[in-house]
This record gives sequence, structure tokens and C-alpha cells, in this order.
Amino acid sequence: MLKIPVGISACLMGEKVRHNGGHKRDAYINGTLSSYFSFHGFCPEVGIGLGIPRPAIRLVASDGGVRAVGSRDSKFDVTEALEDYSRQQFPLIEQYSGMIVKRASPSCGMERVKIYNDKNMPHPDGTGIFTREIMARFPLLPVEEEGRLGDPGLRENFIQRVFIYHRWRTEYAPELSVTKLTDFHARHKLIFMSHDQDRSRELGRIAAKARSENLESVAAEYIASVMATLKKVATRKNHMNVLQHIQGYLKRQLDSDDKQELVDVFERYRCGEIPLIVPITLLKHHFRKAPDEYIEQSWYLSPYPEQLKLRNLV
Ligand code: SF4
Repeated sequence: MLKIPVGISACLMGEKVRHNGGHKRDAYINGTLSSYFSFHGFCPEVGIGLGIPRPAIRLVASDGGVRAVGSRDSKFDVTEALEDYSRQQFPLIEQYSGMIVKRASPSCGMERVKIYNDKNMPHPDGTGIFTREIMARFPLLPVEEEGRLGDPGLRENFIQRVFIYHRWRTEYAPELSVTKLTDFHARHKLIFMSHDQDRSRELGRIAAKARSENLESVAAEYIASVMATLKKVATRKNHMNVLQHIQGYLKRQLDSDDKQELVDVFERYRCGEIPLIVPITLLKHHFRKAPDEYIEQSWYLSPYPEQLKLRNLV
């Protein structure tokens, strides 16, 4: 499998680019994830010519909006330099299917970065200047912080978004047709249902509008809505609905014992006694013996390589 290109804050790869000359190497990213993602590092602060080591910067609120200035010298303002650097990276970032950024950084943080007011009081509601520009220019791009990847639900959500966005960008968007759009929707529909049932129905309505004469505009609306839907973390309740829906494809193949076993496993999953991987594995076992074309084509049972073990913890 070709690795998926993903941008990353360079310090998370172990590069000694932090203001104090250190790094923030992340073991999960550089271990497990690096088998599936090829990482391309950015250090915006080094990129604008600040040295290593360098004075720390922070975000401050001002009449002209949020600015990145020296923590000790507020006249040292690098806001425009960081914005320019971000724009220069757009052609590279356009080729990526995800971004992992360093939490709490005034350049790279995605959310809850401290913004200091004129009384020197911090409010954790900012976004680093580099990441703010990237997210504004590429609203569909999955972006996540390394700290949040420690949460099994957020980790599964982000990685799934990267795989789906990559599939869209590389296999479907080039030479898109009404048939390809319909196929993409059919194969991901069960995943959408696990995130949000109503939005999944809405996605079906959008996809059904596609005609060759309006394909470009419908596809833009569709994929924007897909990525927004996937941002909602899938819930046990929604997964239960999907699992029961899938069970319906086996109703003529299973004897009463097998049916009861599935019901029991689903119930234990619903109560939080066992992770999602257990009912999924049991369903795969039954579909191996009694294949169904729709379920085989769907990405729901295997949305990413099993070795990532993401469903063992959700
Ligand atoms: S957080 Fe961003 S700006 Fe800071 S050292 Fe890491 S890559 Fe560089």
C-alpha cells in the first residue's frame, strides 16, 4: 500500500526545531502511524527565519485581531511573516490528505491556544497562525493535534477521515462522473450512518442530484458535507443501528443460535462491555461464509488497515 501523504509539525517528528532547541517526538505518530502515512514536516517559525534557539512567541489580542509577538518583547511581531509562510506552503499542502499539528503552539496549535489580553491574562480560545491559515484555505483537510490523538475516539475519527479524504482525492475526484459519485456514496453510506443518521440521509439526497451538467457543483457540495459529517465522532448508538442494519443482510443465512449470538454480542457492545472490533469480527466471520455484494463493497467493516487496531478501543 502506498503511504498517505500527511503534513506535520516538524518537532513532532523529533526534529530539534523548538524555540529552546528541543523536540516533541511523538511515539505513536513515528511508530504506528508512520507505517501508513508518509509525513512531511513543517516548522513555520524556522521557516520565517527565526533561529534555533529563539525567543518564545505567543498570541495576543489586539485591535487588529490576534497577533503573534515575542513573549518578552511585544514589538517583535511575526504575524504577517507566519501568514506569508503559510501561503507559500499551500501548493505542498494541497497534495496532502491530513495534517497533524503541535498542540498549544502559537504557530501550529489547532484550538485552545492561549491568547493574552491587554491585562496579560490568557484565554484558551486561539488557533496558531500557520494552522489558522491552512484550515481557512483547506476547509476539507482533516487536521488534528497530537495531544488529541491520545483519545481513542478522536484518534479513530481523525484517521478514518484521512483515509476517506485520501480515497476521494486520489481515486474519485480525478475524472469524476455521476457513476463514480454514486459508487463513493454507496460504499461509504454505512460509515456516514455511524456518524450521523440525519446527515447521512442528507448526503444521499445531495448525491442523488448529480447529473453530468451539474456534477462539479454537486460534488463540491457533497464532499464538503461528507467531511463535515465525518467530523462528528461516531457514537455507540449509531454503530448499533448500523450493526443491526448489516445483520439484516444475513437473516436468511443464520440459524437461530447464530442470530442469538449476534444479538448478545451487539447488546454487550451497546452496554460498553466490549469494543466495536468484537461485533465487527463476528459479522465478518458470517459474511466470509455467506458473502453479500453490497456489504463486501462497503468500507464500513474495514475502513482502514486492521493493524491500526483503532476499533479495539472504541
Ligand atoms: S510547534 Fe510548530 S513552530 Fe513550534 S517548533 Fe513545532 S513545528 Fe516549529
